[in-house]
Amino acid sequence: MIVRLYSHPDCVSHQTPEGHPERSDRLAFLLARLEQTGFTQDHPVCEASPIADELVLQAHDPKLLERLKQLNPDEGLMPLDPDTWLGPTSIAAALKAAGSVWQGVNDVVAGGETRVFCAVRPPGHHAEFDSPMGFCLLNSVAIAAINALNLSGIDRVAILDFDVHHGNGTVDLCRKHSEILVCSSFQHPHYPDRLHDVVAPNIVNTPLAAGASGDDFRRAISSSWWQAIEAHRPDLVLISAGFDAHRKDPIAHINLDEGDFAWVTEEITALAEQFSQGRIVSTLEGGYDLQALADSSLAHLKVLAA
Ligand SMILES: [Zn+2]
Repeated sequence: MIVRLYSHPDCVSHQTPEGHPERSDRLAFLLARLEQTGFTQDHPVCEASPIADELVLQAHDPKLLERLKQLNPDEGLMPLDPDTWLGPTSIAAALKAAGSVWQGVNDVVAGGETRVFCAVRPPGHHAEFDSPMGFCLLNSVAIAAINALNLSGIDRVAILDFDVHHGNGTVDLCRKHSEILVCSSFQHPHYPDRLHDVVAPNIVNTPLAAGASGDDFRRAISSSWWQAIEAHRPDLVLISAGFDAHRKDPIAHINLDEGDFAWVTEEITALAEQFSQGRIVSTLEGGYDLQALADSSLAHLKVLAA
């Protein structure tokens, strides 16, 4: 199986303040690692194009995009909140991150033996309808899911989010779309502490206590996600792939390792083969220990490439 990788130099250069965990090095380190290991020899890296504004506006409040464009500085950094920052290339990076997921969706819908991984930043899953937050400007995965429903042959989508933080933005944008199933596992209580208690037939919230092990994670996911996916029968699977539930991650307290990320990817891949003609587009969200991020991403990619 070929994994098409999408990325863009603007996603690397999107700037945050010194000492911020969501930093350029994350993506630079990951891309260098994919090259060093030879992964990119077999699986091409494609340059992402920006998503069209009208596709963003299918998901987000028009005022959000307007505000981001207005505030995006020509130089220096502009805070949107204490966690979330704009630098000179930030809006370009966010539009290309969303553009890569959308291009990936079109690639896998067009067919062929292809899966897609978007090695992009800023992440997106905390961005709500009218508000950036938690390092996220635009919700790339939710934008792609909502627009995918207009593609021929795509009646139902599943978004599977194993980032250690709850995908509050994705829940916010997708909860009214019964055709989109959102499954999110997350440390609880923990940031962002919003919308994790939404009850809807298409929302599956899977909280994990601080200190949870790989076995706890596997049990929790197995008892809540697989049945929901089988019932939903998605035509397309999108993964919000955050690797900050890794035991080495500095900003959360869940004890997964590369083997757990490989396991969840194998299970998702099997379900996508069964229900979704194998259509998977995975997108990087969090992961703040450089080594753990690179090792976990590679474990995820090796399963996608199998
Ligand atoms: Zn996270």
